[in-house]
Amino acid sequence: MDWSTWIDKKVYSRLKIALPAFLNKTCELCLETNHDAGFICPSCEDSLPQVKHRCQMCAIPLPNQGYCGQCLHIKPAFDYSHSSFSYAAPIDTWLQRLKSKRRTEWAHKLASLMLHSQPQALSQVDAFTFAPSTRWSLMKRGFNPAELIARELGRALDKPVIAQLATRSHSGEQKALNRQQRINNVSKNFHPTRKKLNGEHMLLIDDVMTTGSTAHSMALILKQSGASQVGVWCLARTAKH
Ligand SMILES: [Zn+2]
Ligand SMILES: [Zn+2]
Repeated sequence: MDWSTWIDKKVYSRLKIALPAFLNKTCELCLETNHDAGFICPSCEDSLPQVKHRCQMCAIPLPNQGYCGQCLHIKPAFDYSHSSFSYAAPIDTWLQRLKSKRRTEWAHKLASLMLHSQPQALSQVDAFTFAPSTRWSLMKRGFNPAELIARELGRALDKPVIAQLATRSHSGEQKALNRQQRINNVSKNFHPTRKKLNGEHMLLIDDVMTTGSTAHSMALILKQSGASQVGVWCLARTAKH
C-alpha cells in the first residue's frame, strides 16, 4: 500500500466515525448546529405550523375557543380531539417520508414532536390505540403509520397500547363522496373484534385527521367494546373538514 492510499483510508475511516455524529447535531430544517436533543433546533420547533384555537371536539382551526358548527350540529362519537400541528409544510413532507418512502425512523421523530404538544386530558388516559390498516395497505406498505406513532408515544409516555380492537375492510374510492357519505362509507368498513375493554379512557392516535370519519368510526367501536371515554390525538389536522 502506498502513502496516498494509506492516507485516503485513514481519512475515510475517521470521516465514517465523525460524520454521523456531526449530522445528528444538525437541525433538519435550518441546518445550523443543534445542541438540543431533538432533530430540529428549538427555534425551528417554534416555527412549526400550529394554530391558537381549535374546536375542542374535532380540532378544526377556529377563530376563538369553543366548538365548530359541524360538531354543534352533529356530535361525533369521540369526546375530544387534540392536534399537535396543522397539516402543512414541513409536517406534510415529513409524514410523506414515513408513509410513501417507508422511512420508519420518521415515526420516532414525529412522535417526539407530538410530545411537545400533548392533549390536556392525557393524565386521565388509561391506554392508547390506533385505527387498523386494511390488509391491502398493510401488504403494500408493510406497516401501519398510526400504529408506529402510537407505539412510540406509548413508550415515551409509559401508556399501554391496545391493538386489535377493530378490523378494517377496503373502503373503495372516497374522493367523489361528500362528508356525510364518507362517514357512512368509512363506518361500514370498520368491524369490532371479540376483544373487550373495561371502562378505560382510550386515546386514539392518528397521523392525520381530515374528515374525522375514521376517528368517529373507531370511537363507535371502542365505546361498544366498553371504553368509557374516547379522545383523539393526531399529529396534524387539515384546515377544513
Ligand atoms: Zn433549526
Ligand atoms: Zn368541531
